[in-house]
Amino acid sequence: MARAKQPRQIHQLTVPQFEALFPDEDACKAYLAARRWPDGVHCPRCGNPKVYDLRSRKWHWQCEQCAPDGYRFSVLAGTIFENTNKPLRDWYRVIHLMLTSKKGMSARQLWRYMGFGSLKTAWYMAHRVRVALIEEPEKLGGIVEVDETFVGGKFKNKHWDKRRGGDDAPPGGAPGGHYRTGGQASGKTPIAGAVSRKGNVVARVIENVTADTLLKFVHETVSHKVSLLCTDQGSWYRKLDGEYPHGTVDHSAGEYVVGAIHTNTIEGFWSIFKRGVIGTFHKVSKKYMPLYVAEFQFRYNNRENADIFEAAISGC
Ligand SMILES: [Zn+2]
Repeated sequence: MARAKQPRQIHQLTVPQFEALFPDEDACKAYLAARRWPDGVHCPRCGNPKVYDLRSRKWHWQCEQCAPDGYRFSVLAGTIFENTNKPLRDWYRVIHLMLTSKKGMSARQLWRYMGFGSLKTAWYMAHRVRVALIEEPEKLGGIVEVDETFVGGKFKNKHWDKRRGGDDAPPGGAPGGHYRTGGQASGKTPIAGAVSRKGNVVARVIENVTADTLLKFVHETVSHKVSLLCTDQGSWYRKLDGEYPHGTVDHSAGEYVVGAIHTNTIEGFWSIFKRGVIGTFHKVSKKYMPLYVAEFQFRYNNRENADIFEAAISGC
């Protein structure tokens, strides 16, 4: 007999586990080195595996192959942690906080929680982490749902001095700044999304919601071998008929589920994302929207991955 499936309990890294795993900078650096170079240290510039330990400096090596005088590099070279004055342990904490909060954590929350001297530091770190969470494009199979939505906006009616900067606003920037409305209707950003049921989501900021743009998105993200492609009844989706096994639900007629055909999964993703943008980040401009989309996509796609922290560090 069919019964509703209980969501599997996934235990992410807890705070005590984090403390035990990363007691100090050495532990953090060893962890990073092991993820970057599982087969031993390679030169980040030329890939040479025959590098020498710099005895005088821990976590530093020298490559003799790509520079006449030897290229010296640290465990941080070529990562998002390079050229920052924050300890790796602070970075790890920020990443851990971002990964464990379902609706994300604002720069302001991170700033307060971490006790950083400036909001700018928190803002900068969070954005760097988001860049590291951007996933390689992939084609989805199985039963796939495709939908588009608009995120953000609703901001134009406030007087500028009531506008506290949204999370993505560079701290210290002019109030209002690049949030002036106009252009895209009410400042909302269009986003296209595709999700494989019980699998991954691919979401992307798009320029507009014309048939051409949306079809291009489908072609890039949905495998032609899908067993079913579900959309609502937007007129452009008819172009998918014949190319994919395509089923539609007519939301305008109050139709939401027809057999296996529905778009509830992608709408669930939109709902988490929008609650994050509204509740956590307050607003996000089109410029930075791709980074927030990447963050939510990464969390969603690793929702059953107990090693989500490790997956994130591997991308740093
Ligand atoms: Zn080299």
